[in-house]
Amino acid sequence: MPIRIRTWKADCPLHLASKPVLWHHMSLVKVIPLGGAGEIGKNCTIVEQGDDLIVVDVGLSFPHEEHYGVDIVIPDFTYLLENKHRLKGIFLTHAHEDHVGALSFLLPQLKCPLVCTQFTAAMVRSKLEERMHIKDVEFQIVQPGATVQAGNMSVEFVRVTHSIPETCALAVRTEHGIVFFTADFKLDPAPVDGILTDMARLAEIGDEGVVLLMSDSTNVDQPGWSLSESRVIEGLRTVVNEAPGRVLVTMFSSNVHRMQQVFDIAAETGRKVSSTGRRMETTIDMCRQLKYLRIPENVYIRIDEIGRYPSKEIIVLTTGSQGEPMAALSKMSRQEYSRLQIVPGDTVVYSARAIPGNEGVIWRTVNRLYKLGANVIMEGDTPIHASGHAYQEEIKEMIDLVKPYYIAPVHGEPRHQTAYRQLALSLGWPDHRIFTLSNGDVLCLDDDKAYIDKPVVSGDVLIDQHGNVPVTDIVLAQRSSLGHDGVVVISVALDTKRGEFTGKPEAQIRGFSGPGSVIEDALDDVCDVLAKLLPSEAKNADKVRQVVAESASRTISRRCQQRPVIVSVVVESE
Ligand SMILES: [Zn+2]
Repeated sequence: MPIRIRTWKADCPLHLASKPVLWHHMSLVKVIPLGGAGEIGKNCTIVEQGDDLIVVDVGLSFPHEEHYGVDIVIPDFTYLLENKHRLKGIFLTHAHEDHVGALSFLLPQLKCPLVCTQFTAAMVRSKLEERMHIKDVEFQIVQPGATVQAGNMSVEFVRVTHSIPETCALAVRTEHGIVFFTADFKLDPAPVDGILTDMARLAEIGDEGVVLLMSDSTNVDQPGWSLSESRVIEGLRTVVNEAPGRVLVTMFSSNVHRMQQVFDIAAETGRKVSSTGRRMETTIDMCRQLKYLRIPENVYIRIDEIGRYPSKEIIVLTTGSQGEPMAALSKMSRQEYSRLQIVPGDTVVYSARAIPGNEGVIWRTVNRLYKLGANVIMEGDTPIHASGHAYQEEIKEMIDLVKPYYIAPVHGEPRHQTAYRQLALSLGWPDHRIFTLSNGDVLCLDDDKAYIDKPVVSGDVLIDQHGNVPVTDIVLAQRSSLGHDGVVVISVALDTKRGEFTGKPEAQIRGFSGPGSVIEDALDDVCDVLAKLLPSEAKNADKVRQVVAESASRTISRRCQQRPVIVSVVVESE
């Protein structure tokens, strides 16, 4: 077997050029994002080396406004399922929904161990319990710092700080060097749990040789450093001290560090903490058991106990920071929540940033809360929220530590990816070593270059809450038409044996609002079209349905520029 000395390209900027690597018959390495490239959400990336394949994260995203009736969006797993016999492991960086939320849709279709930290496993397990038979799922729990072999690759978990415990960057070792996934990260110098990003290890990994950096780019347009999570306590403390009555704090139920700060403030200020919202309550119970939350004695009470205390001694943690209609806070704002009613004097703190697209529904909730007499504190001068994602200087620091040869910004929209490219260029990375990936792109690393090959199948799979059958583009287009222009049903009575129409066409409308005469005109035109049918055509119900729908659609769109869904019904008699 020929053995050659491999040298990195001459324009390698940093240390790699001096590090020859022994190799023989190197396999092609492919990095394929199925989600999360050019978008924020549904993170899911495949890394392949030769015959072996691993997956990093299996996330979901939330629907856009035009996704009528869609509850969640997951990646198109076609390519992964076609290659599932090669799959050696699913690696999870952390337990946020945009990294693990699509597992319940993928796992019934393939069997593969989930490799992750204890906290991630506990969160994923509790979510999967709601959605599928958890017994079928195998977890391999690792400590941050551990390395796991997966076929011909290995994956090292490296501690980073983020807004959920035990987030890990992943160093995937391939024959071409390390493919490094930052995961969602920030470089918080004072995290609430005291567990810092493992900067020393990042630097060692950089020295070893990172061929490709897959980097979080969400906050690349924010100059400077992100606010440390521990600074949030000051803002929350001020709000609690100034509140005349109860304080309700809404946040993501996975933000355990934020919860810890609320418990600490409660203990300091002599308040009790309760919680509402199933997900919030489940997470608190789980974190208590596994000791991710240190709850001071006698501070946590049940929601039905809050009436026993003066309102100035109560803090309530609640779900609903994104205006989710079924969440506890949203129901309270509509006065539909029996366990707790908003009263004048309550202070509601939004300790979370709006996911883009949710702003409208959040403001509607806020307005309803004001109408009920509450004071609402949003993010502003008082720090009541800190982002979990690196700002510009932290991203630079990460690049500096891991010294990648190629860079691909992900976990960002095209505007973030472009800003990241500019940043990398300004740091001296040549243009051809920065890849702006889209979902489905196949980024190939071979002996001496990287290139994007023909894409694999990718896209959005739209799921509504009633089941696992995806909502197709046609259904979505129909929902859009129904939403805009309603539906017009035209029925025709037909004697199929003779090919004769036995009555006048009739119309029913729902949600359509055109000028009064337009439906009559449409029916007249339908009559004309039917009269012109050949006898053989008039005996064919399908043909009749088609010409009726086409004619009505033509007339309505010409008369009033509307495009309602047209349903043509042929009532057959013999
Ligand atoms: Zn995250």
